[in-house]
Amino acid sequence: MDYKALSELLFPDVKDTLQDYEIRYPWRDLPKEAMVTRLAPSPTGFIHLGNLYQALANERLAHQSQGRFILRIEDTDEKRKVEGAIELLVSTLAYFGINFDEGILCNPQGDYAPYQQSERRDLYGAAAKFLVANDCAYPCFCSEEELALSHQRQADEKADFGYYGIYAKCRDLTIDQVKDKLSQHIPFTIRLKAKGDPNGTFTIHDGIRGDLTMPQNTNDTVLLKSNGLPTYHFAHAVDDHFMRVTHVIRGEEWLSTLPVHVQLFEYLQFPLPVYCHTTLLLKQDGEIRRKLSKRKDPELSLEYYKSLGYHPLAVKEYLMRVLNSNYEAWRDENPKADLTGFSFTTAKMGSSGALFDLSKLNDVSKDILADLSVEALCDFFLDWVKDYDQDNLTIYNDKAYLKRIFMVGRYDNNPRKDLIYGKQITEKIAFYFDTLFAIKEGLPPAIDNASAKELITAYLETMDISDDKETWFNKVRALCEVHNYALKAKLIQKEPGKYRGHIGEVTAVFRLALAGTLNAPDLWELQQAMGEQRVVERLQKLYNAL
Ligand code: GLU
Repeated sequence: MDYKALSELLFPDVKDTLQDYEIRYPWRDLPKEAMVTRLAPSPTGFIHLGNLYQALANERLAHQSQGRFILRIEDTDEKRKVEGAIELLVSTLAYFGINFDEGILCNPQGDYAPYQQSERRDLYGAAAKFLVANDCAYPCFCSEEELALSHQRQADEKADFGYYGIYAKCRDLTIDQVKDKLSQHIPFTIRLKAKGDPNGTFTIHDGIRGDLTMPQNTNDTVLLKSNGLPTYHFAHAVDDHFMRVTHVIRGEEWLSTLPVHVQLFEYLQFPLPVYCHTTLLLKQDGEIRRKLSKRKDPELSLEYYKSLGYHPLAVKEYLMRVLNSNYEAWRDENPKADLTGFSFTTAKMGSSGALFDLSKLNDVSKDILADLSVEALCDFFLDWVKDYDQDNLTIYNDKAYLKRIFMVGRYDNNPRKDLIYGKQITEKIAFYFDTLFAIKEGLPPAIDNASAKELITAYLETMDISDDKETWFNKVRALCEVHNYALKAKLIQKEPGKYRGHIGEVTAVFRLALAGTLNAPDLWELQQAMGEQRVVERLQKLYNAL
């Protein structure tokens, strides 16, 4: 059979050869250790944690090795395309600090463009033509119905599913039979002519999983669909080769088709990249660990973190811990270092499920927010309010006040770490703002209304907002002594009946007046943030309500 003639028959318009593309897309001039990686999402409009997880690994490996990080859009599945999805993807990843060196909307004129598969048809045509000419691919004219029948027959015969052996009807068509079908305009796909040994295996080194022994591929997988667009398998081989990708870091779901990919690289005479199959992100759900699900777990979507107002650094920092087993130890030794200082390695990536735990993310987030300067925290918070809580924006008009609020509890020996994310912060600081303030609890049981009023009156008499903490506290002690409240709670047990209550209960009254709850930050600091007028008003308000 003259395979060259067959290839001409099938691809009369494809003029450029793979050799031409080898010249057009030369090997990159980069340092020897440099890694070229890529993120290759489909533009479905749904951007999930897995995308960020993959992106972070790819980005770190490329940039820490002076390599290149590419965004390639895998848009050959028309059904999955969503308008605006690429813009959303790029902006969302940029929000999390993931920036590409090449790719659509990043650097679309990069030397390896186009970066969108739907614009790379010619290249796939040239590769398919090459395979046909080398007896490594062939046209298949089977209709959907015929394929469905064959599938049914395999089910009945308990045979493996696929297009192979006796089921591969078009594998050995003569050139005249092909000509005949072409003249009838029967649509065709191009299939790989798999030459694997059904009992054979091969061994490949995975950058994460180590040496893997897998069965050889015997299935004549579709490479080009009847519309001329490639399947994932084919596009992956062609694009990763001609974009000169060195490391293919992708999800575990692609592991089972690795034998097809290895075979394709061999038939196309391309050197193999290093494959790194990441593990799934899991969630603890009661007793079981399961894959995060789009339907059940809102936290799978990156929009979840943006809309709740998680700081992007917190999400990244936490993902680094999930991604690389030695990251946490590094962080303990380098608490203030930028995460780019960590040497990321594929060998330290897990291969048997990575647990994603929101409560751990929250802990990381508390540390990250506590480490931000008050100015940076204010800016981050206000940006989030602008995007996600617009209606309440005016509440935070007084930026100086917001800053004073964020200072509360910051400069203790043990700085407060109770701010987690934008929405939670709005709830946490709501009481500082008069329009949101409400008294939500009652007085401590030891103090009745009349006593509380008496205490508020006495407190207002001596209160001076400019008192330092010590002076203020001495006044509170004096007030307790005058009104017969113990200066220590345990004194009450020592001499029952002697005191009306203790100092903690006295300050609880003032705390209730200022914060609306008994559980509030340090009273003196609260007052400093609120300012005299607001403090007096609130004390009077509680007084009047009693
Ligand atoms: N489009 C594929 C996906 O989103 C890409 C897999 C790969 O990275 O090769 O799963």
